[in-house]
Amino acid sequence: MTIAFAIALVAGLLLKFWLATRQIRHVARNRATVPPLFADRITLESHQKAADYTVAQTRFGLLELAWGGALTLFWTLLGGLSMLNQWLLNWMPHGLTQQVALIVAFTVVGSVVDLPFSIYKTFVIEQRFGFNKVTPVLWLQDMVKSLALGALIGIPLITLIVWMMGATGRYWWLWTWSVWMGFNLLMLVLYPTVIAPWFNKFQPLENAELKDRVSALMARCGFQSKGFYVMDGSKRSAHANAYFTGFGAAKRVVFYDTLLAQLTAGEVDAVLAHELGHFKHRHIVKRIVSMFALSLVGFALLGFISGQAWFYTGLGVVPNLQGANDALALILFMMVLPLFTTFIAPAFAQLSRTHEFEADAYAVAQTSGADLSSALLKLYKDNASTLTPDPVYVKFYYSHPPATERLGRIQADATHA
Ligand SMILES: [Zn+2]
Repeated sequence: MTIAFAIALVAGLLLKFWLATRQIRHVARNRATVPPLFADRITLESHQKAADYTVAQTRFGLLELAWGGALTLFWTLLGGLSMLNQWLLNWMPHGLTQQVALIVAFTVVGSVVDLPFSIYKTFVIEQRFGFNKVTPVLWLQDMVKSLALGALIGIPLITLIVWMMGATGRYWWLWTWSVWMGFNLLMLVLYPTVIAPWFNKFQPLENAELKDRVSALMARCGFQSKGFYVMDGSKRSAHANAYFTGFGAAKRVVFYDTLLAQLTAGEVDAVLAHELGHFKHRHIVKRIVSMFALSLVGFALLGFISGQAWFYTGLGVVPNLQGANDALALILFMMVLPLFTTFIAPAFAQLSRTHEFEADAYAVAQTSGADLSSALLKLYKDNASTLTPDPVYVKFYYSHPPATERLGRIQADATHA
């Protein structure tokens, strides 16, 4: 186990370093000129801002990567997790409480050491490029709210899962899997309706003319128009966006106020139609189903390896001889799993990009390809997204197709329509 783990850790790190340096070099190489396809619509200044922003973010990502690798090593082979476990056992006896305390302590330590990175990203990188709107007070408020939310939702859930691991017999992994799935479904409804509104305001459209257009489009596509919301994204960032979320009665399309402020009525229609296209093609349902299947495999795997002594000793953890090892198994599993899923990430990114093409095609059929293209270009420009990413980096990480591919396809869809 130690060898396989060490190889996966090093190979994953090398792969990500290689990808990031490719991206940095590719973007820097293309910094001098705007790609011909966009030359009449994107200024050299915007293009160079996007290049600098991308390079700054990716460079910082390298640092985070190295730090994350060191941290994983610390928790596992260097004995950090074992130490934390022993330390807690000095204070409390073996049992459910100690196991939950271990997971909470592990999470708290992880979040604390992550703080400098998130502060730097918000107050240095985002600030330098003029995106940050978060004040230190708002930042603190957000953190307190997230902490409260994490404790309120996370601790009961963890307690239930760890308890079930010990109490439901041989097929505990199947029971815990069903609880985990139930929780995810519940969050799909609770997140847009209860949690997100705690951080942002969601309001129906105010502009009457635009409201009519939006309602007409939604009716034409077979949606209830009450699902359209404007979010005060400008509270935290100048980045503009739109997204779709939820299912059933909680289904909704959300536009950031920062996006709405920049689009013409026709462009709003086109972006909305794109989001509706995601619903039309049942992308949320497809995501849920694949998440169900994948996590079942994950839980079955956890069910197997949590019973093997080599899983603990191989990862630098001394298993408890008297008490249960469920919390240790959960933590180790969550830490090790991403090392192996890195290598299948391109498949998921590919699927997501396919969904984006489908949603674009739907938008072109329902509205106008020219409007969709110009709205997307505004998004690229305002978010300082690079127009010239490295093709290999795109294959690995991009959930959305890069600008050239996407606009090219929209044009093709529009001419075929
Ligand atoms: Zn989309």
